Amino acid sequence: MQPVDPTIHYDFVMERVLIVEDEVDIATLVAFNLERAGFAVDMVHNGREGLEKIQKDQPDLVILDLMLPGMDGLQVIKEMQRDTRTHSIPVLMLTAKSQIDDRIKGLETGADDYLTKPFSPKELVLRTQAILKRNQATPGSVIFTFGPFRFDKNNLSFFLDDTPIQLTSTEFKLLLYLCQRAGKPQDRNDLLKVVWGYNDDVHSRTLDTHMKRLRQKLGEFSSHIETVRGVGYQIREIE
Ligand code: CA
Repeated sequence: MQPVDPTIHYDFVMERVLIVEDEVDIATLVAFNLERAGFAVDMVHNGREGLEKIQKDQPDLVILDLMLPGMDGLQVIKEMQRDTRTHSIPVLMLTAKSQIDDRIKGLETGADDYLTKPFSPKELVLRTQAILKRNQATPGSVIFTFGPFRFDKNNLSFFLDDTPIQLTSTEFKLLLYLCQRAGKPQDRNDLLKVVWGYNDDVHSRTLDTHMKRLRQKLGEFSSHIETVRGVGYQIREIE
């Protein structure tokens, strides 16, 4: 990994990031670069301690290694998803090249994005900023309803026929974006750009994984999400 890249524009935001990574060298380098970018950074080197700290401090974002002592990263994400205090905290996973299955499981479980080691600190800072930017409260009306769907943008809660459904912040943003443009096919590159802040071929898979998980969570209403061959996705209009 390289040291701090002087060409990055570091925004001043005091958002709190927790790094859960047992490789102290990596954790320290990541912390250094995030602090340079204006984040308040904390780190722990054990999965179980990580989960406890996430529950206690409720950071704005978690950078989570998958292979951890104490409790592995996938289990940490699962526990976060079960807890209303932590289910909407975004997670950026760190994975080794060989952990492709785990990476997909991580995305399916609720991680928002991932980086494969070795990664550049610049890329990590950009991804972190992109995730946090898309999680910021959207100006305008706080409640958006679409048929049986109700989105509360204030606290990213989602209701289906008045039943709360736990969506990750990425799923929330993706579904809201599609519902606000119902009946019009949305290009997959645009979706990646709007929801993730960037697009490339690798992340095509990320989009499909999130859509699959959204469909599972929506049950019978998943039929409203249509795959538009060669384009992307659309939400069918509700009469
Ligand atoms: Ca590790």
